[in-house]
Amino acid sequence: MSNIIWHQHVVDKHTRATQKAQKPLVIWFTGLSASGKSTIAGALEHILTQQGYHTYLLDGDNVRHGLCKDLGFSDADRKENIRRVGEVAKLAADAGLITLAAFISPFKADREIVRDILPEGEFIEVFVDASLDVCKQRDPKGLYEKAIRGEIKQFTGIDSPYEVPENPELHIHADFCSVAEAVNQLLSYLNSSGVLKSGYEPVKISA
Ligand code: ADP
Repeated sequence: MSNIIWHQHVVDKHTRATQKAQKPLVIWFTGLSASGKSTIAGALEHILTQQGYHTYLLDGDNVRHGLCKDLGFSDADRKENIRRVGEVAKLAADAGLITLAAFISPFKADREIVRDILPEGEFIEVFVDASLDVCKQRDPKGLYEKAIRGEIKQFTGIDSPYEVPENPELHIHADFCSVAEAVNQLLSYLNSSGVLKSGYEPVKISA
């Protein structure tokens, strides 16, 4: 490493973000499988792009098809998965993007590592909180069923731990609110922290 020197390019993060007229950010969704991370992150990204923001969504299952396809679900592999994805999220923020990351990311220390590689205020931890019972009932991919039958090992919440965030920027009770309510909670937070340009239009909540 000692012979590798950082090259400061002419076009920097500030230039890229200014061109997009936005503040780069990493919005990190953590929670049990099926708690709603991907659904809520995708819905928020949809609204943000409709409002003219430039975004990128990193999704746990998707990166395991490529960037992290060599990794499994041991504690060490989960740590490496989050380290890699954290670095990619940092690059995406460096590109000036509002970056959404939806990862179980069960270990507090791994989430803190990502927070620490980003500038102060640029990492927003969103705890997508749904009880294990609700997640098991939703089970959109049938994974809990398989894990309970022992067909998947080291499944978070079944035979691998989930460390609840102690001080997340946002706590979404995804078993008691709709996706639209969760998105409104996020938009309201982003608005109050000065990230959004000119206020926000709440998402309509159908009865
Ligand atoms: P995760 O990314 O956390 O594994 P997903 O978003 O893939 O979870 O799946 C969550 C499932 O729960 C989806 O099928 C979604 O439609 C459903 N769901 C029901 N209510 C909610 C809610 N309030 N918030 C998020 N998802 C919900």
